[in-house]
Order: sequence, then C-alpha cells, then structure tokens
Amino acid sequence: MRYNSTRNKNLSVSAAEAIVRGISPDGGLYIPEEFPKLMDLKDLMNMSYRELASYVLGLYFEELGLGKLKESAGAAYDGKFPTEVTPLKTIGDMTFIELYHGRTLAFKDMALSVLPHLLKASLEKLGNENRILILVATSGDTGKAALEGFNEVDGIDVMVYYPKDGVSEVQRLQMVTHAGSNTHVIAIDGNFDDAQSGVKDIFTDEDFKNKIMELGFNFSSANSINIGRLIPQIVYYINAYLRLVEKGIINNDSKINVAVPTGNFGNVLAAYYAKQMGLPINKLIVASNDNKVLTDFFETGEYDKERELLLTSSPSMDILISSNLERLLYHITDGDYKKVSEAMKKLNQNKKYLWDEFGEGEFFAAFASEEDVSNSIREVYDGDYTIDPHTAVAYFAARRYIETTGDKTHMLVASTASPFKFPAKVLSSIGEDVPDLEFDSLRLLSEKMKVEIPDSLKELPYLEIKHKDVYKPDEMRQSILEIIQEKKYVKD
Ligand SMILES: *Cc1c(COP(=O)(O)O)cnc(C)c1O
Repeated sequence: MRYNSTRNKNLSVSAAEAIVRGISPDGGLYIPEEFPKLMDLKDLMNMSYRELASYVLGLYFEELGLGKLKESAGAAYDGKFPTEVTPLKTIGDMTFIELYHGRTLAFKDMALSVLPHLLKASLEKLGNENRILILVATSGDTGKAALEGFNEVDGIDVMVYYPKDGVSEVQRLQMVTHAGSNTHVIAIDGNFDDAQSGVKDIFTDEDFKNKIMELGFNFSSANSINIGRLIPQIVYYINAYLRLVEKGIINNDSKINVAVPTGNFGNVLAAYYAKQMGLPINKLIVASNDNKVLTDFFETGEYDKERELLLTSSPSMDILISSNLERLLYHITDGDYKKVSEAMKKLNQNKKYLWDEFGEGEFFAAFASEEDVSNSIREVYDGDYTIDPHTAVAYFAARRYIETTGDKTHMLVASTASPFKFPAKVLSSIGEDVPDLEFDSLRLLSEKMKVEIPDSLKELPYLEIKHKDVYKPDEMRQSILEIIQEKKYVKD
C-alpha cells in the first residue's frame, strides 16, 4: 500500500516513510491510496484481539513484514490490557466500548502501545540511523500514552507539549511525574491548538529540520496525524462488532451506529475507515463539547475556528483545529486534493472555509454543554454504570440522535477514558461534594463506583515532579535545541 498527501495525490510514499515522517512535507496528512476490504466477518469471528490487530495492520502495512506486525501486536496488547482488551457494557439500546484499560487509562493507549513498534520496524526498513525525536502536542491523554509507549525505546526521544492550564489535574500529574531518560515534558503557555500548530509548523520547516538532522535527529509524530496511529484504532470497532454478534446483541451482518467523542477527529475517522473496509456501520455520530466547531461544520458547512477556545470538563476535546477532518474531506471528495488544499489554505489565512460535500449522509453531529454532560453522567450512574465526561458527551449526542431520528439501530458508544481520570466532574455530576484533594476525590469515587482505584493512579500523589519547564508557543524550537544540547546527543 502506498500513502499520499491529502494536499497532493502525486506525493506518494511507502508505509514506512509515511509512519516515520508523520506528516507530508506539503503540510498534508498521509492517507492510504485505497481502502482494503475485510474478509468475511464470519472468518474473523474466532480471532483474538491481537490476531485481529495483526490482520488489520497487515492490510495497510504489509511491507513492514507480517511477522513483524504480529510481533508488534503481541508486544502491544498481550499482558498490558485485560484479556478482553476493550470490554463491552450493554445498557438497553446502547453498548459502551471501554477503550481505557491500557496503562494511562484513556483510549490513546490503544494505538500508542503499538505505534512505537511500527515506528521501529519502519526505521529498520528504511535503514535510518538517526535518532528519532517524536514531537507530541497533547490535549491531555496522548502525552502520557506516548511517554509510556516510547519509554526507554532505543534510539527514540519523546517531547510532549501540553497546554499549561488545559488538562485535568490527574492528566497533568501523570505527565510531569513521568521518569524516563528519553522523555521530556513541557508546559506550553497557550492552548492545545497553539501546541498542535507549533508542532505542525516545525514539521514543515525545512531549515529547522535540516539543522536538527545535522545534530543527528529526525522528527516524527505520535499524534493522530500519524497514519501509524490511526490504523490500529480501526481494530477495536471491528472487534466490538464481532463481540456484539457473538453475544447475540445484534444479528450477523446487521448494522450498528457508532457515537464518538471527538476532538482531533482521529477516533471517529477510524470508525469511518472500518466502514469503508466493509464493517456494517450505519451512522457515525460526531460528538463535541462546548467547542462545537464540528457540530457547526456538519450543520452549516462552514468550518470556523475563529472563536474562543473554552476549557471544559472534557479537556481532551478542547480543540478548534480538528486535524483529521482533512482526511475525511479528501475521502468524501474521492481524492479531490486541490479542493482540500484550497480549504486548508483558507483555514490558515481566513480562519474559516465553506464546504459542500458531506458523503452519503453518514454523519450526524451534536454537542453537549457542561450541563448536558453532568446530566448524562448522572443518568447513566442512576442506571448503575459510571462514565467519564468525554464519554458523556458521546452518550448525550447518541441520545440526541435517537430522539431526532427514531433510529433503533444498536448504538456503540466509544468510552474513551476512565472516570478516575476526571473524578471532580464525575462526583459533582452525581451530586457529591468534591473534596479539596484530588486523591480524596479518587477515594470517594472508588467507593461510589465500587471499583478499586487503578494502580497507576494510586501512586501519583507520591511521585516526584520531574518536569517543570514552561515555554511560550513561539519558543518550541528553542526547547528542542536546548534538550538536544543538554543531553549531549550531538554527534561527534
Ligand atoms: C483524545 C481523546 C478524545 C478525542 O479523540 P480524537 O481522536 O482526537 O477525536 C476523546 N476522549 C478522550 C478521553 C481522549 O483522550
């Protein structure tokens, strides 16, 4: 499979190159030349999660070697997740797919536990001997998942940039207490969009890239702009579908709807990919929080990022520039890269663009206000299940869809984070007073949910803070040079 840029069909690269580069030199994102088709679902039924993952990775990244991909899937999912990997919880007409049982308690682990292996295999394939410097902009969850995934991986360094006041306390502590000789965490005096734009800007700055290369480094990305991160996310949608059939919740070949809490459009795009590959998906529900750029886009056709970024209780979705939407625009126009480039240019220059193609009505978009989120958490809690604020956004949008359309198709809701990552909002939503100390909140939530606090959070308050640096968005290049020099990675 070859990969080309969303902004130029003729700029095509191998899978290994697409994974190592992360983003195309013209600023576009890499997309597969075509969608491979799934084999008969019945023949996938008996596969374990790991086997299914190797199969899907093989359809896209065959050139890395099927043996390597199998190994990678094993290293990523065996022992690091529960046996079920992504457990399902069905309540009435909806099934929550819990994507948060990895080490950092958010769905980012699903892809970031396998990406390092794909990257290593790609580097070997290309014979690249430079050290790799992964730049990560995080809205809260990608950061820690990347730090875990790449921890002490030979030949790779990770720089994580997070918005100083834009992540939850648990998210912040998870990152700044991370110990590892190849990992660096920096607070950006700005919001997530500043961090993400900064990273993209550096990736397309040829002069800076050359300078870094002379120092023995190549950049790569662990954000969902990297195709190596997107493809592994397809797997859990297929797996969930198969398990729903197996449990008799849906019939063989019947369709499902999928609701996804959306920020950078990566997770919902993975579901769209699964659909293009032949998974029987009817509607994709694009759920936003108060930063409802995408809801407005699907309703009015105008993408308008010129608005204030609001800090919400679902920080991982506090995003105004939803990067992966660019991939969708490319696919629904059947590869009209000129139209896509034009729109992206307008977004850059005028902060907005108009769009007129939305596929075959397969998307439904809705947003949840803070109050909707609280009510949703409460409503689900009263039914004896606890969801985090991000998942609540998706649940609310799914409910809105069902009310609006009366569609009775079974709804799969992507449950993207553990409630323990956002104890304050969950507790206040279910009518509890929120204790002053984060750890007391965790304890109280644990009592309410009758679930143990996850081990990785229990130790958090006792860990040393390792990373205190704060930089301005326009100082990101400097932060990179300083770290390279400080660590004396410079080649003799
Ligand atoms: C990243 C994240 C999202 C948004 O996912 P995208 O792929 O960026 O759309 C939603 N919920 C949680 C908990 C996340 O960490």
